[in-house]
Amino acid sequence: MVLTIVQSLFADNVRLLKSEASKTAYQGVAIAIGTVIIATCLVCYVDTGTLTTEGLWAAQKHNVALWILNCMPFAFGFWGQYANSLMAYQAGAMIVDQTHDLRSKADDLEKQTAYVSTHDRLTDLPTRALFYDRVERAIIASTKPGYQYISLSILLIEIENFKDIYDALGRNSSDLILKQISTRLQGVMPRRDDVAKIDGNIFGVLLTNITDTEKAEKFAQQIHQTMESPFMVEGLPVAIHPNIGIVHFPEHGEDVDTLVQRAGVALHVAQRSNKGYATYDPSHDKHSPLRLTLISELRIAVESDELDLFYQPKVSIKTAEICGVEALLRWNHPVHGYVPPDEFVPLAERNRIIKLLTQWVLKRAFTDCAKWHQQGLPIKVSVNLSAKDLHDPELPDLISGVAVATGIQPEWIMLEITESSVMTDPESALGIIERLHKMGYRFSIDDFGTGYSSLAYLKRLPLTEIKIDKGFVLDILTSENDAAIVKATINLGHNLGLSVTAEGVENKEIMSILMEYGCDIAQGYFLSRPISFQDFNQWLSSSQWKIKTQPE
Ligand code: C2E
Ligand code: CA
Ligand code: CA
Repeated sequence: MVLTIVQSLFADNVRLLKSEASKTAYQGVAIAIGTVIIATCLVCYVDTGTLTTEGLWAAQKHNVALWILNCMPFAFGFWGQYANSLMAYQAGAMIVDQTHDLRSKADDLEKQTAYVSTHDRLTDLPTRALFYDRVERAIIASTKPGYQYISLSILLIEIENFKDIYDALGRNSSDLILKQISTRLQGVMPRRDDVAKIDGNIFGVLLTNITDTEKAEKFAQQIHQTMESPFMVEGLPVAIHPNIGIVHFPEHGEDVDTLVQRAGVALHVAQRSNKGYATYDPSHDKHSPLRLTLISELRIAVESDELDLFYQPKVSIKTAEICGVEALLRWNHPVHGYVPPDEFVPLAERNRIIKLLTQWVLKRAFTDCAKWHQQGLPIKVSVNLSAKDLHDPELPDLISGVAVATGIQPEWIMLEITESSVMTDPESALGIIERLHKMGYRFSIDDFGTGYSSLAYLKRLPLTEIKIDKGFVLDILTSENDAAIVKATINLGHNLGLSVTAEGVENKEIMSILMEYGCDIAQGYFLSRPISFQDFNQWLSSSQWKIKTQPE
């Protein structure tokens, strides 16, 4: 086809140039004929002294020079035609060559543009659009007669700690890591082209010709193995934590959008599993859509100050004085209404938003604490820390930064931690706790009795307080077991030189029995429900409980 077009273009050009060349040749012939006529007239006049037909005929007949001149129009005609045809062919061929060149350059450019728009510039991997296209094609191919329902699998791989790496090392180094990750992924793939970069830190993998679904999980394990050895950037070894969500076609969906969305759900399940990968199951869907939207909305809520921090008083059982408050997060969702912290805090812990959340809580709690102290109310504020916070080496710097900015003293703050949050990685948590303790912050062990209760670690922690979980306190009047646990915990705390707080003090009777057992501090609805900063100040002025003014 292209050849025919080029040939006809060539013929057209030659025809055009030839007609131009012929014009020049005809002019040459006319000039030559003119010259012959003038020369014949001159010879006739010189020979006879006049111009007659006989004289002109005689000149033509006898003068040899005129014979030569007579040949000129023919020679011009022939030579002109020949030379110009040759030129026309050469010029035509040149134009065709250049057109051809231009065309192939345009083709290359077109291909290059298509490549750039479908490949990630950094890693050179196919983008989301191309990946979706490939999955679609694979689906169509696998449903052709003869291939019917050969299973395909899609794996979504997310680098869980990528944000931390980015924050710590900056863009260039994290880009280098992404490049290395993509090379390792391509290395492990049966077909290099079936891995794609779906999003900032998410990769997609298409496995075709999968005969049994277990193979996809084995493949996920292989991916984990290839990612195990640290990545080297600027001479530093950096470990990454990938999570993998797996879906199979046709079991989990018949189109690419459903499949990828469900792989995302599986990815969230993988984040919570020890294996680091999970295959989609319809039961995952039950909470996922709400959870998934909650996560993104929580981020917005933190950034747009939609959250609130409530305070619940802690009262000394012996002296009936208010010795502090516990800061408790509140989120009034515009659609779902009140979302309990028990629901969204664990969600935030799995999605890195916890860092933002803790930062927000610390800023608000420290600011309010500073206001109370400025008003002459020496209120100590207890702040809950999550397990993830205790493994964040930046936490001590964050806390000291907020303390300086708000003007609070470390001894006004109690940091509540749980046994399980320490036990997930005791050494790193202990390091962070020690640093904060040296800075003057005090620690309380929350929900005591519900976790590991490892006395060995309890002894190593620089604690000030034990909080008995409300689960034991609420039924203290009716359950002998719970009463025994509360009693034993109070004794244990005192033996370790710690102050003991009981949560869930809902009525006077519980308060009285706790006093009998020698418990130090009570916290619960009997004293007050958690209330806002403004409400707390009002409650304070009308309450039977008074602020403790003497330092402990
Ligand atoms: P927690 O630290 O054990 O907090 C005590 C919980 O007991 C609070 O629930 C409080 O409202 C509730 N409570 C207090 N007195 C009574 C009572 O007399 N009876 C009953 N039935 N409950 C009482 P809340 O506010 O729903 O918080 C639940 C959990 O959410 C907290 O448990 C804590 O683990 C977490 N949380 C709350 N705020 C934060 C925060 O700022 N950061 C972190 N990381 N976690 C938080
Ligand atoms: Ca607490
Ligand atoms: Ca508790």
